[in-house]
Amino acid sequence: MIRVVLLGAAGRMGRAIAAAAGTANDVTIKACIDREANFPEVGGVWTSSAADVVAAGDVVADFSSPEGTLEAASLCAERGAALVTGTTGLGEAHAAALKAAAARVAVLQAANFSLGVLALQRALRAALRAVPPGWDVEIVERHHRAKLDSPSGTALVLAGEVRAGRGTETAPLRHGREGRAGPRPGGEIGMHAVRGGTWVGDHTVLLAGEGEWLELRHVAQDRTAFATGALAAARFVARAAPGRYTLEHLASDPGRVT
Ligand code: NAD
Repeated sequence: MIRVVLLGAAGRMGRAIAAAAGTANDVTIKACIDREANFPEVGGVWTSSAADVVAAGDVVADFSSPEGTLEAASLCAERGAALVTGTTGLGEAHAAALKAAAARVAVLQAANFSLGVLALQRALRAALRAVPPGWDVEIVERHHRAKLDSPSGTALVLAGEVRAGRGTETAPLRHGREGRAGPRPGGEIGMHAVRGGTWVGDHTVLLAGEGEWLELRHVAQDRTAFATGALAAARFVARAAPGRYTLEHLASDPGRVT
């Protein structure tokens, strides 16, 4: 039985993961950590302190905040617990903390745990190889009104795919346009963050050439897609050696259980 400690348990993703775990027979929610509230219908011990509950052999699933990720990374490394983290809006300090933790325990990080988004990334790589290098790329994402970070972590991952696919690691990101923005410079990557209502996650990559354009789009209709991927990741890190992993490792794992 895989013991999952849920960090950010009272949040939208925390509750979706708890619901998905409730239908799995190989995963149990050992403890729920949240600084805000608790939901009695979600099983496990509720606490506001991760340090009270994380132990060797646990898998911490972090969908909280950048501060929560820092705490989870150091605690997992110290206690010998694996880490699955989906929190977005992270910076260099968080990347360094996850790297340090991965020297001691298995760490799987993804800005988007949907396997459909992984397919979108792969389709984007193929499309970039197929169209002329001068085609313009614009990324449009839509999320619910409560989302804190913009653009989304997934949009940044997609922009990273464009940079890597074109060998232009420093291609500028253009966040929205206003006023006399002038003709579009070649090579920039347009980023557009739409916020409102209850959109769970919608990412479109537009590739535009002369007299034609191509659109690649993924829509998450509810959080089940992310929760299923997060639980598959928990199963993966529970038996993985220390190191840093992504959804690509999970998707290509012959022993994968989803
Ligand atoms: P949310 O605001 O609904 O939930 C976050 C919860 O974490 C809140 O209940 C908050 O009280 C708690 N929290 C934050 N920091 C904490 C800390 N240090 N200690 C204890 N509790 C803490 O947000 P959400 O929509 O559930 O998203 C959470 C994170 O996951 C965001 O960064 C979001 O972008 C990301 N996300 C990732 C994926 C993915 O597939 N990787 C999918 C959806 C959301």
